[in-house]
Amino acid sequence: MKRVALVTGANRGIGFEICRQLGAAGYTVVLTARDTDKGARAVRTLRREGIEAHSRMLDVTQPDSAREAAGFVAGELGRLDALVNNAAIAIDPDEVLETVDLDVVRRTLETNLLGVLACCQAFLPLMKQQGYGRIVNVSSGRGSFTKLGAGGPCYRISKTALNALTVILADEVKEHNILVNAVTPGWVRTRLGGMKAPRSTAEGAEAAVWLAMLPDDGPRGKFFKDREEFPW
Ligand code: NAP
Repeated sequence: MKRVALVTGANRGIGFEICRQLGAAGYTVVLTARDTDKGARAVRTLRREGIEAHSRMLDVTQPDSAREAAGFVAGELGRLDALVNNAAIAIDPDEVLETVDLDVVRRTLETNLLGVLACCQAFLPLMKQQGYGRIVNVSSGRGSFTKLGAGGPCYRISKTALNALTVILADEVKEHNILVNAVTPGWVRTRLGGMKAPRSTAEGAEAAVWLAMLPDDGPRGKFFKDREEFPW
């Protein structure tokens, strides 16, 4: 049986690299993107590398698109072993809470928090039915409570809240062999991380891929960096 993984925000950056590494590990990959053309282009690149990949439109701010992708996965591929919630935005680098437009807060939470929840809600029924699932929430060290401080407040709050979601959901689904964990990729060279970052996307993707393939006795409800537990 070939395992199946779905990754959000996977047309570029860390999400694309997670697809590549999961594909290289033998998974059938569902590469999702909010832009259909960008998703299709990214899938063509993976197929040229010999990876079995499918492209689906999934805008995490549109729960219907997550449900449609879940319908495709259940109908065409029959199972979903791993869901990697990778898509995120960081639109507030120079903001401070005193003056930030509430719309910037809303848009950030809509993508980085509610988008993850919508995807979990769409794919959990299939995972519960098959009695197996791995959910990886790509968070950030900037959301760690122990490191909170000024700078990018909406992004930080969205990731802190995502960490809370991770712990609660992990406990809710623990009877179903579904392991939910969060991971920080470190500071990675992408459009979001900027080109001065020290890590490659390959390095940033590695721990998320490990969490997506955990054995049944693997950890749940934890936060990781480089396969080591990271403080919440
Ligand atoms: P990136 O290169 O900016 O890629 C972000 C991806 O998310 C893009 O594919 C983007 O699609 C997609 N996206 C944004 N909004 C979306 C939506 N509504 N629906 C679906 N997809 C959407 O960022 P990255 O650095 O690879 O980040 C990946 C993850 O790592 C994020 O969760 C980020 O918070 C986390 N992270 C990154 C770093 C870092 O240093 N890079 C550090 C810590 C955590 P478009 O191409 O259409 O915009």
